[in-house]
Amino acid sequence: MIRAKRHASPDPKGRFGIFGGRYVPETLMKALGDLTRAYAGLKRDRRFQEELRFYWERYAGRPTPVYEARNLTRHFGRARIFLKREDLCHTGAHKINNTMAQGLLAVRLGKKRIVAETGAGQHGVASATAACVFGLKCVVYMGEEDVKRQALNVYKMKLLGAEVIPVHSGSRTLKDATNEAIRDWVTNVETTHYLLGSAVGPHPYPMMVRDFQSVIGRETRGFFLREVKKLPDYLVACVGGGSNSIGFFHPFLKDRRVKIFGIEAAGEGLGTPRHAASLSKGSPGILHGMKSYLLQDREGQVRLAHSISAGLDYPSVGPEHSHLKVTGRVEYRAATDAEALEGFGLLTRSEGIMPALEPAHAVGFLKHLMPQTRKNQILALCLSGRGDKDIDTVKRYL
Ligand SMILES: *Cc1c(COP(=O)(O)O)cnc(C)c1O
Repeated sequence: MIRAKRHASPDPKGRFGIFGGRYVPETLMKALGDLTRAYAGLKRDRRFQEELRFYWERYAGRPTPVYEARNLTRHFGRARIFLKREDLCHTGAHKINNTMAQGLLAVRLGKKRIVAETGAGQHGVASATAACVFGLKCVVYMGEEDVKRQALNVYKMKLLGAEVIPVHSGSRTLKDATNEAIRDWVTNVETTHYLLGSAVGPHPYPMMVRDFQSVIGRETRGFFLREVKKLPDYLVACVGGGSNSIGFFHPFLKDRRVKIFGIEAAGEGLGTPRHAASLSKGSPGILHGMKSYLLQDREGQVRLAHSISAGLDYPSVGPEHSHLKVTGRVEYRAATDAEALEGFGLLTRSEGIMPALEPAHAVGFLKHLMPQTRKNQILALCLSGRGDKDIDTVKRYL
């Protein structure tokens, strides 16, 4: 295994090993360079950090609790299970950590407008929310198919004052919405910040989003050192684009004894074409300005991803995860739609917590992991969001 230091951050070109980088048209290189420099400045800027803390604490509800799930622990009869409660954040998931940070960054860059891509609409809602707080105009690109499937989130974004633009190209889903958002940014870069929603895309986004979401892992690590006097033995989180998971994992990467599991969406099964498991079943390729694991056919055409949870339904994954897979520091596994529903039911009935279907994959995976754990061990699971948005889906499937 490669030493931990190699994971610390991307190299100056934004590469994590062979992954990441900046595969974009010339017109975007300057904007990305400017953003990288501005972000480096704000990282050292005390006032920016203090303002960000203000919004995280007083607006978004941080720090979120780490809850020992005693009933769920009893169900398996093995390691003690703790839940990092990102479901208690304002707007219902970890996404607000990133949108408040990038919203504040947009203000500091003097931008008047943000553009965002969204699949299920969760990032669109979190972006529109941040735009209200910071007085920014917000434009959200969303595939036509998703606009139809996610009517409630479209309406929420409109209530929040955002403009939702349906995208008619390609498969009319998240992949195409992302292309359109990038196109808008290129055209309007003087006035506009592109608020990317996961730890993906060209450098500096995977690094920047990871840094912002690392508040999840820092709080978790602090909790265990302070209250339990020992670090967890296992970390588990779901992986879509990979932002909640990289934020949860990152502060622990150097703790070599902590075993880390990222759970992808196996959809209808890894043996079928209907899944979203880019790390388990994909191969390295280029999409949305980054090199990373990608679901593609033999001609290099991007394949459509499928998952019961719209938030995991992305055909690629953040480049740092690809690197962590190759180095072996993190183990990537997958849970099916059926296992996610099982996880949803288990957490709902044992603890009275309805998880979003994304982290329900992590809960569903526990039946495979728990038997190898021991009673005196500790497992921490990132509960990235709450299930309210998924109740209709659950009802349809059950
Ligand atoms: C969007 C979303 C995800 C997937 O995104 P990541 O970038 O992989 O974290 C996971 N959980 C919830 C609740 C989400 O809304």
